[in-house]
Amino acid sequence: MIEKEDLEKQLENNIIKKYDNLDFKKVKDDINSIVNSFSMKPWIPQENIFKSINYKNKNYLIDLNKIVRENNKLQILITKNSAAKKYWNTILPFSYRVNDVIRNNYKFPLRIAIFPGVSCMFYCGFCGRNQKAKYDTSIIDDGIKRINNMISDAENGTKISISGGLEPLTNPRLGKIIKKGSDLGYKLPLITNAYSLTEGYIKKNPELWLLDSLRVSLYGYDEESYKKITQLDKSYKIVKKNVINFLRSRNENNKNLKVGFNFIILSENYKNLKEVLLFIKEINNEVTNGAGINFLTLRDDYQSVTGRDENFDKDRKYRITNTMCEDDRQNLLEIIGDFEKLKNKHCPDLHVDYGYSLEYLSQKIFDRGLVKIKGNEIRSFGFPQLSIAVDLHGDIFLFREAGFLNRQGNEKVIIGRLNDEKNSLENNIKNFLRKNEPIKFVENDSRFLDSFDHVLNALVNQAEEDEKFGIPLNLGPIAFKNFDKKESIGNNWYSDDI
Ligand code: SF4
Repeated sequence: MIEKEDLEKQLENNIIKKYDNLDFKKVKDDINSIVNSFSMKPWIPQENIFKSINYKNKNYLIDLNKIVRENNKLQILITKNSAAKKYWNTILPFSYRVNDVIRNNYKFPLRIAIFPGVSCMFYCGFCGRNQKAKYDTSIIDDGIKRINNMISDAENGTKISISGGLEPLTNPRLGKIIKKGSDLGYKLPLITNAYSLTEGYIKKNPELWLLDSLRVSLYGYDEESYKKITQLDKSYKIVKKNVINFLRSRNENNKNLKVGFNFIILSENYKNLKEVLLFIKEINNEVTNGAGINFLTLRDDYQSVTGRDENFDKDRKYRITNTMCEDDRQNLLEIIGDFEKLKNKHCPDLHVDYGYSLEYLSQKIFDRGLVKIKGNEIRSFGFPQLSIAVDLHGDIFLFREAGFLNRQGNEKVIIGRLNDEKNSLENNIKNFLRKNEPIKFVENDSRFLDSFDHVLNALVNQAEEDEKFGIPLNLGPIAFKNFDKKESIGNNWYSDDI
């Protein structure tokens, strides 16, 4: 990986002469080991690296880190071209705020997820929502006002998205939120199940055309598979019809609005990835006035990080019980290889985003699944300087999978409620941090974190451990300072840019 010619002189001067008993091969191997470790596991602590290189002088590791950190080729290799590149896309732009998280310093969140849904018509077997809970429709206008005030107060560079929580399009006046964000210059993505994305809804909410992107959660590829997951008759037919109509109108109203699907890989469906492509092709064939589906995100079954303990979240029609075992993931590795070929044949223009863990498989590297924080590793103040979620009540959730109305046990991660100016997002977060009352988390609380939260939590924990170990982030192998711009936080799925 490292060419002798490139580094020999640097190593001679900076390392070999400095430390006794070291030969060039060991130094080179140790540098490769650092690069390989961070190319696979960005959250690996320095202490683990120190043990693996087996040389009893921390300054040696600090010097090696410096060499990696200052080598642009190695930085690109680790953060842009490795199997872990999707993790790096998330980590890099947040890293400059990590010290504020560790020290409980107030900062306005870099990311806000808005959950404006009133209810949901689906009963997905992997979803943690309380299926009996819905917001009282009388609070909609007030809720929108609170959310819009928060958007007005947001700091420049904060990224805002609209999703669930429940299903956003069950809010009949969603357009008001989109309009507010768009008027203030935010590029807003919306995640929906598209069941209510009817012509009538669009007419009442023409602000939908101001979105930057719209991602439809795809729960199947035919009537049977859709019904199995959503438990709702006609869900397949209605979603398909709505998406086709939306794409046709999109091509007339705002060609720049990117439309895509998200498909969650489950043990029940992973062998049917080909059908997903054929479904997209079928839809695209129906859209004759321009582009069809722009992107497809494939995601690991998030129950693998949110948990599937039957003692919790019992208010649901059914629960998916199977998990992706190692054999399934081995099979998936092969299937993804074929999928790429089929994609190029059937949907050559489709941008496919594999997400954190499937990216490894797409690069033909076996990976056991998403990074997962245990209950006792959850940050006791969360990381509101990085990310929070807000629902229609104006409740502020530390973690995104907690943002379901009356989800069992989620009160512990609601840190305040937006209300008038005194109860702005800023004041709520400041009060929460000032009170200095750490939240006690238990094992099953990890179900409140989605995969993005798990990554951020892992990043902060790593930074804290590294600091205690005596090699803080700025002495590690990654040149984080090169990425410390708010603008580089990704907020779409249709490009690989961070
Ligand atoms: S995953 Fe989304 S669409 Fe499915 S039940 Fe949960 S909120 Fe509704």
